[in-house]
Amino acid sequence: MPFVFDFDHAHRKPPMEMKDLLGGKGANLAEMTSVLKLPVPPGFTIAATACRSYMEGGWPEALTGEVAKARARLEKKMGKRIGDPSDPLLVSVRSGAKFSMPGMMDTVLNLGLNDQSVEGLAKQTDDERFAYDSYRRFVAMYGRIVLGVPGDEFDLLLEAAKELAGTTSDAGVPIGLLRYLVDAYQQIVERHTGRPFPQDPDEQLRGAIEAVFASWNGPRAIAYRVRERIAHDLGTAVNVQAMVFGNRDDASGTGVGFTRDPATGATGEYGDFLVNAQGEDVVAGIRNTETLSALKDEFPEIHRELLAIFSRLESHYRDMCDTEFTIEQGKLWMLQTRVGKRTGRAALKMAVDMVGEKAINLTREEALGRITGEHLEQVLHPQFSGADHPVLARGLGASPGAAVGRVYLTADDAQAAAERGEHVVLVRSETSPEDVHGMLAAEGILTARGGLVSHAAVVARGWGKPAVVGAEALRISAASFSVGDVVVNEGDWISVDGTNGTVVLGQVAVTVGETPPEFEIILGWADAVRTGRLGVRANADTGSDAANARRHGAEGIGLCRTEHMFLAEDRLPIVRRMILADTPDEEVSALEELRVAQRSDFEAILEAMDGLPVTIRLLDPPLHEFLPDTQDLAIKEATVGLDEEESRLYEAAKAWHEYNPMLGTRGVRLGVIKPGLYAMQVRALMEAALSRVAAGGHPIVEIMIPLTVSREEMALARSWVEAAIAEAEAAGGAASRRGRTGKDSTGALEVLIGTMIETPRAALLAAEIAEEADFFSFGTNDLTQMTFGFSRDDVEGRMMSAYLEQGLLPRNPFEVVDPDGVGELVRLGVRRGRATRPSLKIGVCGEHGGDPESIRTFAEAGLDYVSCSPFRVPIARLAAAQCVLAGLVPPKPAKSTPKSKAGSAPKSKAAPTAKSKASSKAKSPAKS
Ligand code: PEP
Ligand code: MG
Repeated sequence: MPFVFDFDHAHRKPPMEMKDLLGGKGANLAEMTSVLKLPVPPGFTIAATACRSYMEGGWPEALTGEVAKARARLEKKMGKRIGDPSDPLLVSVRSGAKFSMPGMMDTVLNLGLNDQSVEGLAKQTDDERFAYDSYRRFVAMYGRIVLGVPGDEFDLLLEAAKELAGTTSDAGVPIGLLRYLVDAYQQIVERHTGRPFPQDPDEQLRGAIEAVFASWNGPRAIAYRVRERIAHDLGTAVNVQAMVFGNRDDASGTGVGFTRDPATGATGEYGDFLVNAQGEDVVAGIRNTETLSALKDEFPEIHRELLAIFSRLESHYRDMCDTEFTIEQGKLWMLQTRVGKRTGRAALKMAVDMVGEKAINLTREEALGRITGEHLEQVLHPQFSGADHPVLARGLGASPGAAVGRVYLTADDAQAAAERGEHVVLVRSETSPEDVHGMLAAEGILTARGGLVSHAAVVARGWGKPAVVGAEALRISAASFSVGDVVVNEGDWISVDGTNGTVVLGQVAVTVGETPPEFEIILGWADAVRTGRLGVRANADTGSDAANARRHGAEGIGLCRTEHMFLAEDRLPIVRRMILADTPDEEVSALEELRVAQRSDFEAILEAMDGLPVTIRLLDPPLHEFLPDTQDLAIKEATVGLDEEESRLYEAAKAWHEYNPMLGTRGVRLGVIKPGLYAMQVRALMEAALSRVAAGGHPIVEIMIPLTVSREEMALARSWVEAAIAEAEAAGGAASRRGRTGKDSTGALEVLIGTMIETPRAALLAAEIAEEADFFSFGTNDLTQMTFGFSRDDVEGRMMSAYLEQGLLPRNPFEVVDPDGVGELVRLGVRRGRATRPSLKIGVCGEHGGDPESIRTFAEAGLDYVSCSPFRVPIARLAAAQCVLAGLVPPKPAKSTPKSKAGSAPKSKAAPTAKSKASSKAKSPAKS
């Protein structure tokens, strides 16, 4: 397979299906050239396979010859040669990976200029100024990117030249000074590299291609890939393309255009444009740009042509496209196009609009495929509450959402402050890829310069981070910025609204924004696809969380962590008293306090989720989360001393101290040594449920035992639960006679008893545990912790970033479930569990339940539902539908299939009554 392909190469497949090989940019260039026949400057693409070979074993030998041949073909097409002293062809050398990584890798423009060809260019164009301006840009760019010379040295000289010339614009630097700059830049290069600036075009070309390959593994690119979950081994393609010049004269220009508004989704063209400028000037945001309507006034013909191209692009790609174009002396050239990035709001609007548009005619299924979890997250972002906030400055609303934080003026300071736990707004004149770490750390971004397609805007929008750009009134200095008379110092609070571009001094209260109408439409379509195939529940611990989850579309609760009901300051002592009780009396009285507190909590949750299943997990407190810190108490004892209560707590805490509390007296193990504990919780729960029935409600209860590792453990826990249910029902009979409304025809509660699968052993022994469990819920937080042996409390802070950067792990496994290891345990647990009990209901309630990529793993494993935090429920609904559409969700097992292995009759999948369940415990005859 060759490494190099011309843009007009006749590929066997449509180029857009060859992004693996050609990269996104290369595939689009080939599509525009060979399929759409748009005016694209000719060029060739060096495939990503060459970059991969380069990373493995250095410059591939075959590449030299292939590049030379492609160069010769290009020169023939253009009728010019690179480096020709009389009429040189200039080329750009740009990166282009499979997935867009805006600004993260390197680009070299104007390649082919040297001390001779610059004169040829001057003669051919009859424009010496243009030729030398191009040359000085090339020397600086090549010096910085290929030869590693610090860019500031060139910038300082340029600033000095502008000052000397009494101008603020690059275009105002006269030819004499440009010649001087070229000379001085070359001296800078020689001083840093010990060699003169390379004059040989072959050497220049190879150097630039190698620099682009190498930039794949530059720190900016690695950081971006980690953030965007892009694999490190893909490599980048490199595009070598004939240059056209938007900075030739006032009949030239360059711009970035979108076929619709990427911020709002509104139909109609949208973009930025600069007369007499090169592409970098638009993207870097160095000059403030004009809109495309200005293009209509200044270049009406070109504007018409561009719009015609836009509409062809939309119907060809059936999506919104973004483009880069250049006008060279009145001729339009398309330099790039791709399906454009967009805000969440715009994505929703476009997807819904395009379903109804004839030219595009999207299906609902396709529309669902266009929306990502991040899009939904963006529209759920906070907004300023109220109106009429005194506006300090206005800029462009580049990325929606409101952010409130302290001002930091450099990326390093922003990062350091965020690491100290501060909320940060990063304020820069403009941003560059060097600022990415600060942008990542910041909650909001504000720049003084740049347009809606500037670096700051594109990056922030991609991340859903609120950003205001081009707030021109800002005057930024070392430790403060000012707007008129108002000085804002580093560390002062500001609020930025990236939806409408306002900046307000101080902390503005924020509220969750209203989702656009398309949000519900899309989620409605998603539900229609996934209902009955893959359910979505929420993890919620309080009535108000449960209500919130239901508003977001949760179909029940997959995990109520009952220990969370005790994390509040006033309730913590109750759990502590229970854990630390010395005598049975003390324990009983602490349990009684717990029961009273929990009953009302349970009632609130069951009310909020009336008619939907609620999984209540019995207490699972890793003791270190509930006991006082022995170190703190030791220090207090040694300094100010402890009071009586504290001394008692200290002694008890020392006695209960465990070296590995996460592997210690947790979950069902605590129940084993505190036998009254689970019975008490079930009593509280059943009382709450009966009281809901009495009030006319329809509670559906699933009682879940945490951290089970064997059948025996599960059988024991089940016996406590059943006894407590029976007891509560006996007592509740009176209650129900008193208050039942008759809504529930059988008068019985629906209760299932199941377990979490959180340890490798539980997954391996799922077949026997399923004999005692009506349902499983995979606790993938602990399952990940115990499968990797990674402490879930420590490992992310300490070593995860090193592991991700070095490619030792493709993803943080606490964020995206490990499909090979943990995923395999899930698959195995499902298979083994259902072999015993085909009707076994199975879900997941680890944090992964809200992560779209993890949801794919769970869907393929055959889970019935995923459960996640309330605000991620919409994301999970969409992801679940996408899994169904992708054919990942296996058909549900027939409900009446007899038990295949263990031999005894399966429990009815229809929720049985507590009573009937208590008396129909299914056991394998062989094992009971
Ligand atoms: C889990 O381990 O995945 C789980 C949901 O339980 P917790 O996070 O409470 O340990
Ligand atoms: Mg757990």
